[in-house]
Formats: sequence, structure tokens, C-alpha cells
Amino acid sequence: MTREEKLTIFKETGALQEGHFLLSSGLHSNIYFQCALVLQYPKYAELFAREIADFFKDFDFETVISPALGGILVGQEVARLLNKRSIFTERSDGFMTLRRGFTLKENERVLICEDVVTTAKSTKEVLEVVQKFGGVAIGLGSIVDRTKEKPDQDFPFFSTIKITAETFNPDNCPLCNQEIPIIKPGSRK
Ligand code: ZN
Repeated sequence: MTREEKLTIFKETGALQEGHFLLSSGLHSNIYFQCALVLQYPKYAELFAREIADFFKDFDFETVISPALGGILVGQEVARLLNKRSIFTERSDGFMTLRRGFTLKENERVLICEDVVTTAKSTKEVLEVVQKFGGVAIGLGSIVDRTKEKPDQDFPFFSTIKITAETFNPDNCPLCNQEIPIIKPGSRK
């Protein structure tokens, strides 16, 4: 798929919206991205996950691990395509951990999968869980890369597309100055 084809799918499914948005951080942005809106169509989940799977198909690993909730669908799909095991981390009392009886063996090689990587904070949390179990992360695959700086990790990072947004301080927002109504994404109208 070309970048244009991917952007068309994101726009048609509503995953990528352009306008004037209030982010949960309090900043304003010209772009809002909600990956769940593209992943709600399994055919698209497969299409994007296949690019991640193709990139990592010759890497040596046994298991795909993803942070709940957004990463689970991507991890499951990549694992299905490569016939690997798929598990996910989730928060318990604020800490990322493995629950539900999921476990990793000592030296088990894992691929971390996410829907969107923005600050790489969740990646770092998943990596800590992997290391706690004695596992080894061999790579990070994500549908969308929204990072502003290259994540600081010593394994390959593959994403199917890079989408960066402009963010503005509310006091100094050109979209506010143009009196474009602001939308709080995900809230009910
Ligand atoms: Zn604004």
C-alpha cells in the first residue's frame, strides 16, 4: 500500500480527522487519530498487520506481546499471520503487568506490537515486563508512528506509516485565532 492509500483508508474510516481538536493533554491540534476506528474493520487490521508481519517474518521470536487495550488487536493479527503466540500486558494498580496466567520463559524472544507509538512510554512499560520475566525484546512493530524523536531502544522499530500532528498551546493557537470551533474527540455530542 502507498502512503496515500493508507491515508485514504484512515480518513474513510474516521481514524484520521483533520480540524481543531482538544487533546487529553490540554494542547490543541490540527489532527486527531483514533486507530480503533480503522481496526474495527478486520480486513484493514489484516492489511496493516501484514506489513508488520512481513517486516519481522525472518526475525527469530516465539511470542508477540502488546499493551492493552489498543495494541491487542494488532498483536493478535501479527501473531496469527506469523503463527506465533500472542499475549498482552495490562495495568493492575497502575503498574503494567502480565495477568490471566500469561507468562514468559527465561530468554523467550518477543516482538512488541502496538497500534500507535507516540511517546514510547507504553513500549518502555511493556519492555520492563518482558525483562522482568527474563525475556528478550527483538523488535517493535506499530501501525502508526507518531513520535517526534526516534524512540531510544536497541531493537528495530517498524511502522506502516508516520503521521505527525502540529500541536498548539491554547494561548497561542492559530486555529483558535481563526475561530474554528474546537472538538473534544471521543466525547458524546
Ligand atoms: Zn485552538
